[in-house]
Amino acid sequence: MQANDLSLLSPETRRALDIPGRLWIAGEPQEANEHLPVIDPSSGRQVGAIADGDAWSVDAAIRAAREAFDRGPWRRMPGSEREARLRRLADLMERDAQLLAELETVDVGMPMWMSRGLNVAGAIGVLRFMANLAGRTYGKTVPVHTPDPEAAYFGYTRREPLGVIGAIIPWNVPLMLATWKLAPALAAGCSIVLKPSEDASCSVLHLARLASEAGIPSGVVNVVTGRGVTAGAALAAHPGVNKITFTGSTATGKQIARAAAENVTQVSLELGGKSPQILFSDADLDKAIPSIANSVFLNSGQVCVAGSRVYIERAIYDEAMERLVRHVRELRIGCGLDPQTQLGPLVSAKQQDRVLRFLDDAVASGVQMLTGDYKVDGPGFYVRPTVAAPKDERTAIVRQEVFGPVVTAAPFSGIDEAVALANDTDYGLAAMVWTRDLGRMHSIVPQLQCGRVAVNTEPFPYPALPEGGRKASGYGRDNGEEAFESYLDTKAVLLRYA
Ligand code: NAD
Repeated sequence: MQANDLSLLSPETRRALDIPGRLWIAGEPQEANEHLPVIDPSSGRQVGAIADGDAWSVDAAIRAAREAFDRGPWRRMPGSEREARLRRLADLMERDAQLLAELETVDVGMPMWMSRGLNVAGAIGVLRFMANLAGRTYGKTVPVHTPDPEAAYFGYTRREPLGVIGAIIPWNVPLMLATWKLAPALAAGCSIVLKPSEDASCSVLHLARLASEAGIPSGVVNVVTGRGVTAGAALAAHPGVNKITFTGSTATGKQIARAAAENVTQVSLELGGKSPQILFSDADLDKAIPSIANSVFLNSGQVCVAGSRVYIERAIYDEAMERLVRHVRELRIGCGLDPQTQLGPLVSAKQQDRVLRFLDDAVASGVQMLTGDYKVDGPGFYVRPTVAAPKDERTAIVRQEVFGPVVTAAPFSGIDEAVALANDTDYGLAAMVWTRDLGRMHSIVPQLQCGRVAVNTEPFPYPALPEGGRKASGYGRDNGEEAFESYLDTKAVLLRYA
């Protein structure tokens, strides 16, 4: 299998990778004692290093963020000024789009069309959407009546920024997920300490540098790279944080919520998923089949809303499966810098092992893999896209989040069985429905236990539409006005004026 030819990278990207990793605290790069390797997943080779931040680094970053929040100009400036600087940041990201996309491709493995078209462009869109909201910290006036005829009162509410935000994000689409936290928090007037994943931090460090260049004051944006068990755990448990916003696995989310509870710190959790795709027999299969495949195999299945369970109405099951398997067999896997690549490698050897273990266990328990062999020889962390048809919905690859290029399929008869199968999961992140019948669409959408539904389309993120889950997929929302509101607190004011 191919490996990235790093000589294809722009000189800026090569320079960015050559700089030994440092933390970003109080508007400046800071040295760290230890480092972690940056690994190119297409070859398994080290291409750079990031700082291995520890509890001390986290404490320094939180003190910088606290100082910026309590005494700095950011939250005091007019919303229109915060808006202008966030827009400048979006423009700078556009200027550096190629560099950001290349960093993401070399760090995570995703193809360049995705790095640039979805990840970098999506992040810029969210920044502009949130910039627009920066001035909208409106409260309410509240009439107050008491039995005392001599006294007159008046009430109102103020919307105030929450304070210092701790954001912990995973490796799958780092720049976009960092922006989903940073943009609403900054628009609301908060300061932030971001802890990206130890497996993919490069683009987030560049984002912090651009924030300084955009005129966002020192200490408002801080990045502590490092491991989850050290830097992440220290951030979640720190009493100086007003809110922890986390995206990652359900297991880690539970640990973070427990740590934050000790300080009564607010938490929002965007966790894993096992999202169903329901294909009714009246759907347009020419459109549905490629979209169903994209909805699960985008970023090699390393997407939280991946539609990893497909349910197909019995009348078209054989035909749809035959077409899906044919389509998936033709998907082109390769390194992210090759423009022909549709699916890149998985992010790390650990993730590749995890996905292969799921598949090997499924085969050992008799599950049929309709797309054939999933293993790939050679360097890099590749896994071939795989369609499985387990007979039993209790099988681990149907119940658990694989987070790799694997989809399971099963037939259903009628809307009630489709809903029952779709909801029979611990998770509740997303669902996809394929039908041309509007009545059926309106009947099924309210019955699906999840945070978002895509009908006759892939579930691409849109800045104004909130993202988040129910059940084991967490609580709280990224994106949309909901996300902006979640970085504001309400203060009620009662005033006696006569
Ligand atoms: P992960 O939970 O292992 O790690 C996520 C982040 O948490 C990383 O930065 C990691 O360093 C940190 N971390 C790990 N242990 C920690 C601890 N004890 N305390 C504090 N921080 C800790 O997840 P991952 O493997 O990086 O990412 C994959 C997961 O992310 C999948 O489950 C996926 O579904 C989920 N995800 C969810 C969404 C969403 O919007 N719901 C989006 C993308 C990814």
